[in-house]
Amino acid sequence: MTNTNKAIHTHIPGFPRIGAARELKFALERHWRGEQDEAALEATGRELRARHWALQRDAGLDFVTVGDFAFYDQVANHIQLLGCEPARYGFSAEQSQLSRYFTMARGRSGDAHEAGCGCGQAHGETGLQAAAALEMTKWFDTNYHYLVPEFTPDTAFSLACERLFDEVAEAQALGHAVKAVLVGPLSFLWLGKARGAEGFDRLSLLDKLLPVYSQVLDRLKAQGVQWVQIDEPILGLDLPSAWRSAFENTYWQLNQVGVPLLLATYFSPLEENLSLACRLPVAGLHVDGVRAPHELTSIADWLPVHKVLSVGIVDGRNIWRTDLDAALAVLAPIMDKRAGKLWLSSSCSLLHTPFTLAAETTFDSEIRSWLAFATEKLDELYVLKRALQGDAGANLDAGTTEALAVSRAAIASRRASPRVHQQAVRERLQAMPADADQRRSGFTQRQAEQRARFKLPSFPTTTIGSFPQTQAIRSARAGFKRGELSAADYETKMREEIAYAVQQQESLGLDVLVHGEAERNDMVEYFGEQLDGFVFTQLGWVQSYGSRCVKPPIIFGDVSRPKAMTVDWTVHAQSLTGKPMKGMLTGPITILQWSFVRDDQPRAVTALQIALAIRDEVADLEQAGIGIIQIDEPAVREGLPLRRSRWDEYLNWATQAFRVSASAVADGTQIHTHMCYAEFNDILPQIAAMDADVITIETSRSDMELLNGFGQFRYPNEIGPGVYDIHSPRVPAQAEMVRLLQKASAVIPPANLWVNPDCGLKTRGWPETETALRNMVAAAKQLRAIY
Ligand code: GLN
Ligand code: ZN
Repeated sequence: MTNTNKAIHTHIPGFPRIGAARELKFALERHWRGEQDEAALEATGRELRARHWALQRDAGLDFVTVGDFAFYDQVANHIQLLGCEPARYGFSAEQSQLSRYFTMARGRSGDAHEAGCGCGQAHGETGLQAAAALEMTKWFDTNYHYLVPEFTPDTAFSLACERLFDEVAEAQALGHAVKAVLVGPLSFLWLGKARGAEGFDRLSLLDKLLPVYSQVLDRLKAQGVQWVQIDEPILGLDLPSAWRSAFENTYWQLNQVGVPLLLATYFSPLEENLSLACRLPVAGLHVDGVRAPHELTSIADWLPVHKVLSVGIVDGRNIWRTDLDAALAVLAPIMDKRAGKLWLSSSCSLLHTPFTLAAETTFDSEIRSWLAFATEKLDELYVLKRALQGDAGANLDAGTTEALAVSRAAIASRRASPRVHQQAVRERLQAMPADADQRRSGFTQRQAEQRARFKLPSFPTTTIGSFPQTQAIRSARAGFKRGELSAADYETKMREEIAYAVQQQESLGLDVLVHGEAERNDMVEYFGEQLDGFVFTQLGWVQSYGSRCVKPPIIFGDVSRPKAMTVDWTVHAQSLTGKPMKGMLTGPITILQWSFVRDDQPRAVTALQIALAIRDEVADLEQAGIGIIQIDEPAVREGLPLRRSRWDEYLNWATQAFRVSASAVADGTQIHTHMCYAEFNDILPQIAAMDADVITIETSRSDMELLNGFGQFRYPNEIGPGVYDIHSPRVPAQAEMVRLLQKASAVIPPANLWVNPDCGLKTRGWPETETALRNMVAAAKQLRAIY
């Protein structure tokens, strides 16, 4: 018998839209290639929405979520909904809404965002490129990238797109109870960027924006939606006081419309915004109970009882099965405080998790039992609801009792599994000496030794690691994976590719060579596949941006390295040249950041375990005679917590993990690291604390501006500021690179400068690569003559 006095509702802030088999991705790409018209694309969108709503209803959710679908990005949908397409596109009235949408997303003459460096990540300043797509940037601390709205003092708003209302009608016609979702006005303004006028404050647009939001809400109300979820995730950020104080009036105005508003926050604790969020004149509040469980009690106390509290108790950011008993223990006292009224939800949109476990056929049943992807999370919500209604005790129906038992068994198996807990790894970490993260001597001493050893010219030239992943390489790998190419033949093929890359570099006259990464599919997957403690999904795709998806590895257990991972390839490459061959590894923070990470121990511990595995690889490379080793860490900055008060803690363990991976070597072994485009200025002391002998960074697109911070900070070690933008097929001229290097020499002591491209060359073709590198080597020679 269930207790019907308990009004428990379930819902989710959003659902993955890409489709179980990435149907949306393929439909988009067909459309962009001109093989499929808008009507066909719209039909795919409709089918996917109908399917995803049906899943939500069939899982027993009380509402389906409408408005989370987007052909490219949900923020871009709002740009059209709110009528603020940037004037710089000069759109004409004849152009269809959808084609304007894709123009903003992808630029007019080509495809800026698709030409990534191959790291699966998007990069910030695409606005500098000719294609003039909207800039793209990370959605809070996720790996999802949204399109950045552009605001000027003249930006006007109007209700300009029917799509949201059409989708609501679509869901209603299918018989669903609808909760519509919007990005809230303050988050929308915050996430945009001011263009044009100096000192223009985008918050000043709020008064123009609010009437349009009211109109949107009016329309939704007229359609009879039950609720409108209005997302204000910026409540979890350190907000300037003007932004904080704008909330009350904003929600006072929007609440006038009279449609029930569920204000949603996620990703980060509310902290000083907690009482504000509880006080706002809205009908309900959704909070992230996974990222901020410690705030739940105060929220349950502070939020007036007539308001709905939605607790995001199921992790929307990770792939682990929820510990339902633990969740129930958290929820029961909150239920009491809320007079038996509670909503249950995932912590945030399920956009950040793969679609379903059902498609996976290669996991063994044990590991599979530990996981829950988006569709499985829907079922968890239903079980939680039934369990709470039945008081988790004698009143439970058989299905719920069974589901709880299955969940309990899975949690117990994960907790006890020897595959997760490896004594040797734990002991090694415990016994790690305090100075394991310190090189033997300071940089000055190391530099002197390395200079004597390698005798490199000034302005030494190198590359970041990968050379073009040609069709031949890709099809060899595909053939090998399908079993059509034997392991021996595959290895021979890769050795030939490595030899080719080495020979090219020799004839170009580069000083420090690389093997070219032909054998690597992806810089994280390659290592994950060889380390213990990782598993891979077949179809665990998560949207990164537009049609781009990534398939992150899952770190399920203690990490260790059964055997050397890169030594054979590197030694082979070194045997082909008298020049130093740079070993090439991915660093612990990047491996961590681009994976689904276990939630049963602190991330710092997992990072250190990976660091020790990489440390062993570094030691083996050194032992095998490799004198220069690069440990890539492009993801250090993106791991920063959303709250500044938590930066230090993260940066401490992150930089320690890097140093642990790098510090086993002798002074004469040179450690490089590499980072892609990122604002470094606010974390320069920590980047310096990584103590790499050489750091290469992406700077060409900022015209070396990024280097100024390093100069002002007097960054002590050597630096290779990128002089060749590898995101574009354009070949930079020698003079252009000379100019960049002269700019660099004005801020960094020339003796500490290296000459290299911005990032790896895997997405480029050989002919352009050759010309660009020839120009780069010539530029370095010219610099040597000047300084
Ligand atoms: N070594 C890697 C490469 O060259 C680095 C990639 C990256 O920084 N994203 O491809
Ligand atoms: Zn890079």
